[in-house]
Amino acid sequence: MITVSFQNHEVRELVNLAIFRSLTRSQVGSGTEILVSDRFESGFKKQIIFGSRPNHRHFHTIGGINDSIVRFQDHPLTRNLYLKERHFERYDFPNEWNNLGYGKIETTPGSHFGLADPTDPTYCGISESESDCVLWFNRSVGPIDGFDWRIVEDFISDYRHESLPTLPVLSEIPAGYRAAATFRIDCDEAIESGRPLFELYRKHDFPFTLAIKTEQDFTPGAMALIEEVIEGGGSILIHSHTHAPEWGEPSSRPGPRSRGDAFFEASTSLSILRDRLAGRVNSYAVSPFHQNPRVALPKLLKAGIDGFIGGIICNDPEYLIARGGAVPFCEGMISHSEQCMFHGDCIHPIGESIDVYLAAWENAVRTETFFGYLDHPFSNYHYGWKSEEARLDAHERFLHRINEVPGLLKASSRETLDFMWDRAQATIRVESGSAVVTSGATPRSRFQFKLRWKSKQVDPIPNPL
Ligand SMILES: [Zn+2]
Repeated sequence: MITVSFQNHEVRELVNLAIFRSLTRSQVGSGTEILVSDRFESGFKKQIIFGSRPNHRHFHTIGGINDSIVRFQDHPLTRNLYLKERHFERYDFPNEWNNLGYGKIETTPGSHFGLADPTDPTYCGISESESDCVLWFNRSVGPIDGFDWRIVEDFISDYRHESLPTLPVLSEIPAGYRAAATFRIDCDEAIESGRPLFELYRKHDFPFTLAIKTEQDFTPGAMALIEEVIEGGGSILIHSHTHAPEWGEPSSRPGPRSRGDAFFEASTSLSILRDRLAGRVNSYAVSPFHQNPRVALPKLLKAGIDGFIGGIICNDPEYLIARGGAVPFCEGMISHSEQCMFHGDCIHPIGESIDVYLAAWENAVRTETFFGYLDHPFSNYHYGWKSEEARLDAHERFLHRINEVPGLLKASSRETLDFMWDRAQATIRVESGSAVVTSGATPRSRFQFKLRWKSKQVDPIPNPL
């Protein structure tokens, strides 16, 4: 078992849920094998400390800070990171998103997402003796919002497994696959103009997803596209009714206000799609602007939404999560963070380079992260694309590259969130040296789980019941 112990209740909730997403709830409880805490405690052979440097141990730096950039050193715990740098704050478009997928190391004093000790030049270090090992992050929430979460997973699941305790970790990639990708377009306007992208993805056997803002015209061309997406194994998600900031909840951010709140936005959108699609709608949403105020989540649940795609560096850091599954502060809700925006804004100005997307993809493959990315159909706004032809060319170059990975799963948003739902319900038991992973009572996904443990991939063992 792994023990999670934090004095601050916000941090405890944030870290607890991050641990649930990697290890399942069933492995979290009281035990003396592994501790995750804000302070050192004697009696544990493996400890993970999120907070200030424990003062009676010597730490070897594995992530040092220089000019507001974390630089990871070569170490067995960083071997699965493709990216070796994490900027405190990184954007691919003015103050909005980070295509590399990670969150912000805040500089506001006292923020849980900032350095616990801003005067300490170490972000992450390790302290070892023959009989124990302490992994420390100089941040109250640790790396719950970034690819470096894999350091924590590897520390738990295989580091020094010959002599120190380990626990199996639930992979974010389904059994039988080496990597996974999901793509969608967010139809804020002009649904039918997404057709050329749909046809490109269909050519590459990639199930398509439309996230639809429902306060718009459902033209015959839009309805025809929606039908073909569904027939092709793709999915349709709600993207609110009016695309109001903050799901219509009160906000200091600029933008048009909604006529209602998050319940109005979600329930109106759901009922419109249900009517138009004769019920073929699932219980998932893409959050407008990827904004997810905490107060909105119970209202989405009440409206019938139990999963959302969001996660972005510029807001709501608690919902930018390294692994998909259960979220903090709203029991019964799941999420998957998909921050990577495939836009002309980020490609044409740098000589048609798609290198940042390839880096994000390679990092996802190495860290076993289910990779989500998105674009938008053209309307009056073209998201920086010069033309449809230029856009299709960039997407196809990227598709050719990701298709090179053997064992690639290409999934719709629905399939992705169904799997994240199942991850949130899974249980792992370790019995006589073997790990058994079991689905919840009502699995939604056709995919099976796989585990990583002691440097090995563990194939799913059927539930003996
Ligand atoms: Zn949108």
